[in-house]
Amino acid sequence: MPNQLAFKDRLELTIALANNQHNKVAVLDLDLDNFKLLNNSLGFHAGDELLKKIATELKTCISDTGTLCRVGSDEFLIALPNCVDEQTITTFVCTILKSVSQPIQLAKQTLSLSCSIGISVFPDDGNNYNDLINRASEARRLAKKNGGNGYYYFTEQLNKNSLEFLCLSHQLRDAVVKNQFVLHYQPQLDLVSGRIIGAEALIRWQHPTEGLLYPAKFIDIAEQTGLITEIGIWALKEACQQAVTWQKSGIEPITVSVNVSALQLRRGNMVSVVQTILNETGLEPRFLELELTESILIENIEQTVLQLNQLKALGIKLSIDDFGTGYSNLAYLHKFNIDKLKIDQSFVRNIDTPANQAIVLAIVQIGHALGYRVIAEGVETEAMKTHLLTSQCDEAQGYLFAKPIPSPLFYEFLLAR
Ligand code: C2E
Ligand code: MG
Ligand code: MG
Repeated sequence: MPNQLAFKDRLELTIALANNQHNKVAVLDLDLDNFKLLNNSLGFHAGDELLKKIATELKTCISDTGTLCRVGSDEFLIALPNCVDEQTITTFVCTILKSVSQPIQLAKQTLSLSCSIGISVFPDDGNNYNDLINRASEARRLAKKNGGNGYYYFTEQLNKNSLEFLCLSHQLRDAVVKNQFVLHYQPQLDLVSGRIIGAEALIRWQHPTEGLLYPAKFIDIAEQTGLITEIGIWALKEACQQAVTWQKSGIEPITVSVNVSALQLRRGNMVSVVQTILNETGLEPRFLELELTESILIENIEQTVLQLNQLKALGIKLSIDDFGTGYSNLAYLHKFNIDKLKIDQSFVRNIDTPANQAIVLAIVQIGHALGYRVIAEGVETEAMKTHLLTSQCDEAQGYLFAKPIPSPLFYEFLLAR
């Protein structure tokens, strides 16, 4: 374990890197609760053993992402680089609290420990070693004062945010069990014929007290807590079921598109999940499309190609959502067995500028050259539609045609056309 001097070096390096990449760095000051009491009653030898075990636990939590050092008898410092937001930090801190509190076997006894953690964040709470360390330890004293076994951010607002995060993630778990989700549907049109050819299923959460919540409020939390797997399965099944219901009612069959998060692809056994749901609902595979995020194009390319091939072999369609905003690895794009690119709405929104026109045109051309269809999202005006037609974009989706609406309204919308 590095000593405090080495820790200082590492933290300063981490800060310099984060400064260039506009990332946050969290500094954690961790102190075991009631360690002196344990040390005195168990004896120093057992106390040493205990510290070793805790240090090993902490190392495992941090793996190779952060830096850990021991400063006092039972005090540790942790530097956590590449924190995108404070939710990443809160999630990590909760993991530490949980692993420290796991029962430890020592001197034929089972002990249960806890700790207090103070957190300061670069650049919000300081931009140098001293400020960050001092503020983390000030926050740690507050955590202790509040009874220990917990954490405290130096910045009050972050305490509030993190409370909201924990509260929401708890309620989200409940929402899965209580079935509080609903899908709204937004039509997708063929630009030339004007025909409705599909519907994107967009999830909403009917929160018991907050009303209808949009995905921006909870999808991140669902991903960070892993709940997205369960929620994703629900959404997929619900959308397939709905498509079958529409078909049975006699309207012309349309494709339903379901959003799939990168985490679902990486963790879940998507191929068998999709297969099972198709079997259970009886939806013909060609009427299901999965919208994947661009980020999957850069991770584990080989494995992703394999997985997408397996999904395609089921007979379903695949599209890349928000294309052009993430990490479009053009070198690999042609290797992916997909059907469609979805031009991100930011390009459509500003399509009246020459730069965005050029980008939209380029995406359409890349798509067509690779044999994919291209759809634009966020189409709000006739002018945007005209630009897209001129660029030979195939399909469109947006408020100009309809907002996402509950399924009964969507059915009426289909009938009225
Ligand atoms: P997305 O897949 O890119 O969905 C398009 C978003 O743009 C939707 O927001 C939609 O309501 C909005 N939109 C559609 N037309 C227009 C328009 O003309 N103008 C403007 N300003 N906005 C328009 P929504 O429903 O809030 O969904 C946000 C994101 O949440 C989605 O982005 C998708 O990434 C995610 N999401 C939604 N449902 C699910 C789901 O079931 N699973 C997963 N993993 N993610 C989902
Ligand atoms: Mg989408
Ligand atoms: Mg999108």
